[in-house]
Amino acid sequence: MKAIKIKEVIIEPVNVPLDEPFKIAIGTKYSIENALITVVLENGIVGYGEAAPLEPINGENQATVLATLNSCIDFIKGKDVADYRAISATLRSVFWAQVTARCAVEMALLDAYTRVLDIPLYQFFGGAGNKAETDYTIDIVPPETAKVNAARLAAAGYTVLKTKVGKKLTDDIDRLLAIKEGAPACGLTIDANQGYSPCEAVHFIEEMGKNNIRPILFEQPVSRYDLAGMRFVKDHTSIPIGADESVFTSADAINVVRTGCADYINIKLMKSGIIEAMDIAAIARSANIKLMIGCMLETKLALGCSVHFAAGMGCFSHIDLDPHIDPELEPFTGGPDYRAPFYTLSPDLPGVGCVKR
Ligand SMILES: [Mg+2]
Repeated sequence: MKAIKIKEVIIEPVNVPLDEPFKIAIGTKYSIENALITVVLENGIVGYGEAAPLEPINGENQATVLATLNSCIDFIKGKDVADYRAISATLRSVFWAQVTARCAVEMALLDAYTRVLDIPLYQFFGGAGNKAETDYTIDIVPPETAKVNAARLAAAGYTVLKTKVGKKLTDDIDRLLAIKEGAPACGLTIDANQGYSPCEAVHFIEEMGKNNIRPILFEQPVSRYDLAGMRFVKDHTSIPIGADESVFTSADAINVVRTGCADYINIKLMKSGIIEAMDIAAIARSANIKLMIGCMLETKLALGCSVHFAAGMGCFSHIDLDPHIDPELEPFTGGPDYRAPFYTLSPDLPGVGCVKR
């Protein structure tokens, strides 16, 4: 194919109010504070990429992402869009700590490139399928609220519900029991986001057992760096253990394989970028480790890209891509069709399929 050069690169912030406030250690987020990169090719085709930074996960925020993306403009301009791997490799070597910014660049390049090829992104990833079923997260709320929310979500069609644990054991058990009561037929996944020591995690699992609660997945029980501790937890339960914060890179995935500390790896495009996510998936599959896909606080663009990735690769046992904003406030139209709990991708929409409002 004749080279198709990138003619223009536009960087801008994306701010959209969240459905529900999102608490992190340094305060509360009331809106999605992301960044958008638009690449315009010399033939007029446009590609979009979104960076969704979350400080406690990847150490980035909107300001650092905008600064990083702005300093990439001159490097990206004039490059052939088909050379996305070479562009990504150079950016990885320079901005090694700015993964969400790099993910946005990769997303924009692949969106534009697959529009050039006139294929939807899921076909670029292998075309294994065009559907994905997501779970839905119930926040840390009082048991009564959790029960009502669980019943409402089950009635809406969700078959798997997720909640966060790791703050206070009795509260966590009460909330899990309430969710079970509200949605008895739903599978339950829990995520401690590194909140326990290995012994505390095993104790928590024992307490769940006494209450007849058996999650289908327990994500990141211990510190991201404590793979031996995670192995200890895994060795003391038959509940599948997932590595999320422990895996940002393919090297991290290899360490999970070597230590045998997890049954699942949670891929998030904002942790690894898109290209490295393909490598992580390959490592996990080769080692018989199951895959799940998760998200940060993203608009339809980055969520849609993750849906294409999961559907096209076809190797994901668990999908955690629940939207956090009112569809009316989405900065993009098009993209995946979402009828809870299913995403469906159109074979007729090239790229991610999103169009800026
Ligand atoms: Mg997680």
